[in-house]
Amino acid sequence: MSRKPNRFKARNDASQTALPARLWQLFHTLPGLHRALITAVTFLVLVTLMLPSGQSLAARHSDPIPTLIRHPLELTLPAQVAQASEPQLDWQRFEVQSGDSLARLFDRAGLSPQTLYTISKLPEAGKTLTRIMPGQMIELGFSNGELAELRYQMDSQRTLLVNADGDGYEEQVLEKTVEKRQFFASAEITSNFWNAAVDAGLSANQIMRLAELFGWDVDFALDIRAGDHFAVLYEEDYIDGQFAGDGDILVAEFTNQGDTFKAVRYTDGNYYDERGNAMRKAFLRAPVQFNYVSSNFNPRRLHPVTGKVRPHRGTDYVAPVGTPIMAAGDGTVIASAYNNLNGHYVFIQHSNTYVTKYLHLSKRLVRKGQRVRQGQSIGKLGGTGRVTGAHLHYEFLVNGVHRNPRTVKLPESHPIAKSERAAFETLASERLAQLAHRQSILLAMDAPSAE
Ligand SMILES: [Zn+2]
Repeated sequence: MSRKPNRFKARNDASQTALPARLWQLFHTLPGLHRALITAVTFLVLVTLMLPSGQSLAARHSDPIPTLIRHPLELTLPAQVAQASEPQLDWQRFEVQSGDSLARLFDRAGLSPQTLYTISKLPEAGKTLTRIMPGQMIELGFSNGELAELRYQMDSQRTLLVNADGDGYEEQVLEKTVEKRQFFASAEITSNFWNAAVDAGLSANQIMRLAELFGWDVDFALDIRAGDHFAVLYEEDYIDGQFAGDGDILVAEFTNQGDTFKAVRYTDGNYYDERGNAMRKAFLRAPVQFNYVSSNFNPRRLHPVTGKVRPHRGTDYVAPVGTPIMAAGDGTVIASAYNNLNGHYVFIQHSNTYVTKYLHLSKRLVRKGQRVRQGQSIGKLGGTGRVTGAHLHYEFLVNGVHRNPRTVKLPESHPIAKSERAAFETLASERLAQLAHRQSILLAMDAPSAE
């Protein structure tokens, strides 16, 4: 049935054969649901066109009219037909206002305290509707002024449905199944990581996750170079064939300046390298998210203070004032203060061996003596103290000696539990093989024909 409208067009409009043919090709590249929708819409449009003026169309197109007129009988629209046969409810939408309780919302809707009481005695409704948040919607369907149905979207998958049932109400939770779809993306970086990842089809969210995943090994703000490349196998959630959210990265590989890092997601939700060591390490390579940092490809950047290219005892990250600064590792704040040289600064002690220092902040978010976690915001980037431009000056000290945080050898990360190792190795080799396979397909497609 889905072919008819297109055949009809292609056969009769001989002068336009090329366009319908192209549309037909395009049509076939679409996902199934889209095709079904387009087919249904095309049909409805054609049928609508046919009904009032079938004669005039019949005059222009010689044979297919009878075929088309027969078709509406084959069109099944069960949902609409079913709804039409039920009594129409008078639906009203209520947005939860700040300070609203279910009682206040029901009162606004003109519902009796008795109705509120009955509904709040239902197990799921009683639990869910007492936790409504401003901005959420509650839909109420009335029949002869009485509440006949209540609908409340609990989350992207679940809807609470309360229906009048004799004197009382009954409830059910409608659940949509989430379909996990796998996608592969890979790219070689030519301008910067962000652009390469966008071009490869990754969402902003997935790009940040990928950078986070390898952020313990690679400083995405300063150390990405042309020629670096990555490959990633990830999931997306679909509900009713529609994109419903990003899923997990299953396996990924990142090559930075010749070093390749691999990460596999295990069933515990953590990521491990191919040898089973945790990707998460004691220190982040950079205390700033890479997407804030202005020039990814400028290894010989001028120092913001002296205007000269020179090595110094820290690493400078040039980014907008207000950029969040993260604690590179778990630790204790040993200084949070201001002076003319450093501006606002924060020092963190991590175990006995390591100290990290963050200078020129516009704002400090931690106090001396406070415990901080890795990735926690400890301040905002600024231009306080002796600087000519806003930047973060970051220092990394090992036993009191300044080291380059981007290259210093850091404590070994935790390996996966012995009891999990065998299962992990099986999963890891499977996933890495999948990734390698997808990459080889891509390479074969890119390569010039061998014949
Ligand atoms: Zn500096």
